[in-house]
Amino acid sequence: MIRKLLRRVFRRAAPVSVLPEPALIPVDRHGVRREQVSPAANKVCTVLQEAGHKAYVVGGAVRDIIVGQVPKDFDVATSATPEEVRALFRRSRIIGRRFKIVHVMSGPETIEVSTFRAMQEAEATETDEHGRVLRDNVFGSMAEDATRRDFTVNALYYNPTDETVIDYHHGVADLQQRTLRMIGDPRVRYREDPVRMLRAARLGAKLGLSIDPAARAPIREMADLLENVPPARLFDEMLKLLMSGHAVKCLKQLREEGLHHGLLPLLDVILEQPLGERFVWLSLENTDQRVRQGKPISPGFLFATLLWHEVLADWEARKANGEHSQPALFDAMDAVLARQSGKLAITRRIAGDIKEIWALQPRFEKRAGKAPYRLLEQARYRAGWDFLRLRAQSGELPMELPDWWENFADANPDIRQGMLVPEKTDAPRKRRRRRKPAGAPAAPGSE
Ligand code: ATP
Ligand code: MG
Repeated sequence: MIRKLLRRVFRRAAPVSVLPEPALIPVDRHGVRREQVSPAANKVCTVLQEAGHKAYVVGGAVRDIIVGQVPKDFDVATSATPEEVRALFRRSRIIGRRFKIVHVMSGPETIEVSTFRAMQEAEATETDEHGRVLRDNVFGSMAEDATRRDFTVNALYYNPTDETVIDYHHGVADLQQRTLRMIGDPRVRYREDPVRMLRAARLGAKLGLSIDPAARAPIREMADLLENVPPARLFDEMLKLLMSGHAVKCLKQLREEGLHHGLLPLLDVILEQPLGERFVWLSLENTDQRVRQGKPISPGFLFATLLWHEVLADWEARKANGEHSQPALFDAMDAVLARQSGKLAITRRIAGDIKEIWALQPRFEKRAGKAPYRLLEQARYRAGWDFLRLRAQSGELPMELPDWWENFADANPDIRQGMLVPEKTDAPRKRRRRRKPAGAPAAPGSE
């Protein structure tokens, strides 16, 4: 009790002198066996230890194994400097400018090896005017390295040599009690790095942990701090969240914590339109399922679905204003992506993928003449069709349309010919003159 109180009091300032004493937890209390760690991570630790350094598997991987999930990658923390690590592994390279880390390649794996890092001491650290830490690049002791991590469950160091876990912040107990607890004062830690609020929501959802009330309470009032985070960092974090295999749960958690506002500015709007909301959830469920089945998912597809109903609304408005359908679509796509980019730095490559998928959509409505054959030959046909099917599943289009394309794609040439739908019955709306999209980036293969 008293220790707990003392810890609370001292956590605030956390001067180096009161860094916690670690607990050494034997394998029968955490259950992580050497075989559950990847061969490459085991090897990296052994080689570093044999050269006289400390080296442990750290962070997400240890945490994931303890809760029974399969880690997606392995990180190693060590007392060796990046240059010392580099010298020990032939297939390795130093990356990063501000804080150097080493990528060690072994077979198909890449292990990220980082040198123990010092804590951020408020006075000595460069911050922006909101207290966000801008620099964090000093080597430190292992205890400091543990204390600068975000959650107790992320500060576990596993030694494959003797299968023990070194636990500075009661992370094993927290994991066993299914609690996500912040190391130190949550308000201070969120101010240093507001992305930790998103990480709390994501890790809570992914691991099935409940966010400790002390870490949960300040989120709502501090959510605005996310506005100062560089868009590229937010985009990375959103991508992690959406591709975690638990996107539905994560997004629900974000909504519960009041965190969804700043992130995908358009998401609020979308989630309020019944058709849009249904479409977004369907797409996220579909993504989660694919991740869990080990199937590939593309960020472009995902963002294309998240923003589609915005494009639809914008497109309709432009058409109502007398713009022709095709150029109106391209203008709507650009407008939606531009509005989004202030907050989330969607990379140019991904923006290109998103546009390709959107631009294919009207082409699925043409089922006469040569057009369907040309569409089938598109490199992104499959992604376009998956997207079309989601639209139909959400009620935006009749299911008959994706079904027709599925049959058409499978059919032999004779049958295909008979399947073509004459233009008039296919498009009962008034026929439009064919026009070249003026000034719009040409969608690959668009006529
Ligand atoms: P996952 O890999 O499942 O997405 P993770 O916790 O491993 O989750 P990473 O981004 O791989 O996330 O980070 C590795 C480790 O670095 C974390 O476990 C944590 O100890 C530390 N860390 C990551 N981000 C932060 C942060 N914003 N503040 C403090 N520590 C962090
Ligand atoms: Mg990780």
